[in-house]
Amino acid sequence: MIEDKNQQRTALEKLGEFGLIDHLTKNFEINQKSTIKSIGDDAAVLDFKSKQLVVTTDLLVEHVHFDLSYVPLKHLGYKAVMVNLSDVYAMNASATQITISIAVSNRFPLEALEELYAGIETAAKIYDIDVIGGDTTSSTTGLIISITAIGEIDAKDVIYRSGAKPNDLVVVSGDIGAAYMGLQVLEREKEVFKVNPKNQPDLDHYAYIIERQLKPEARRDIIELLKKLEVKPTSMIDISDGLSSEIMHICKQSEVGVAIYENKIPLDPQVISACEEFNIDSTTIALNGGEDYELLMTISQEDFPKIKGNPNITVIGYITEKARGMNLITRDEQSVPIIAKGWNSLENQE
Ligand code: ADP
Ligand code: MG
Repeated sequence: MIEDKNQQRTALEKLGEFGLIDHLTKNFEINQKSTIKSIGDDAAVLDFKSKQLVVTTDLLVEHVHFDLSYVPLKHLGYKAVMVNLSDVYAMNASATQITISIAVSNRFPLEALEELYAGIETAAKIYDIDVIGGDTTSSTTGLIISITAIGEIDAKDVIYRSGAKPNDLVVVSGDIGAAYMGLQVLEREKEVFKVNPKNQPDLDHYAYIIERQLKPEARRDIIELLKKLEVKPTSMIDISDGLSSEIMHICKQSEVGVAIYENKIPLDPQVISACEEFNIDSTTIALNGGEDYELLMTISQEDFPKIKGNPNITVIGYITEKARGMNLITRDEQSVPIIAKGWNSLENQE
């Protein structure tokens, strides 16, 4: 579907493993003070002085998590980094380093990996993180990418999923559901393309939702905004699997219940129109879609004046006693239990 403009194909065997690593990583800059030794030795060396560290890993597998027929490799590299940074920010930490491990089959030429690494490099530059290592091996089937992200934080600033208290406000950054609807559009175009490869899809009026699927941004800006507003959320999580499963994690770990107002859930107009077109309920998508990489947090009522009217964050409900359970207050003021379906990649295997 996405035209291969880069016709040159250099076989990976030509470079050998070490040549390949050197080639792919030669442009990476080191900017973090905590990076003492990066790529090139048996292990990287970091020095975080008196800070606490956060460490998180994600694994992305071709055909399970991404489909290269419509995901450009550059975007894939960028997104693979975002997925990890989002977890670091969800702890309220600043991201400082990543490692990248790839398993790749000889179906991929060097040029494909250059694209992947160009996306990783762009992400590293924009988010100011050092690439300090990784591993490279062969795969007999698809492409596998595993990224580990490291971040630093003062002990007193860490935010867990477990700190929500009854009466806290439930707050979400940005808008949700867009990445899932972008995926629906891309999947549909893939089917159209199979039937008629000459068809050039007009995706202009889906631009926002497709971008949310292909090129998500981790919300470092929200972490900075909260610091500026002097608001420390009582709990926080990133929305990788849909609102319902994330709120469930907070409720379980904090031993509380929740009431979410359907009419407060922030949806982009493109999500609403795509849902109409695909004949799906937009609230179902917001609750059970995935990959939005927004932040879901709870804040104390006292902090409400500090966030009131801020266009980057929306209050969508409040925390209750555990006994009241997890409920959605619908537009017609009915209270219905929230069931977390999540986004189980084990069920999505092709
Ligand atoms: P080892 O044999 O000790 O695993 P490697 O030869 O795999 O070492 O790696 C050499 C150096 O290159 C190490 O610093 C490692 O972290 C780094 N490295 C290996 N693969 C990658 C990769 N795909 N991306 C970034 N750095 C990598
Ligand atoms: Mg190795």
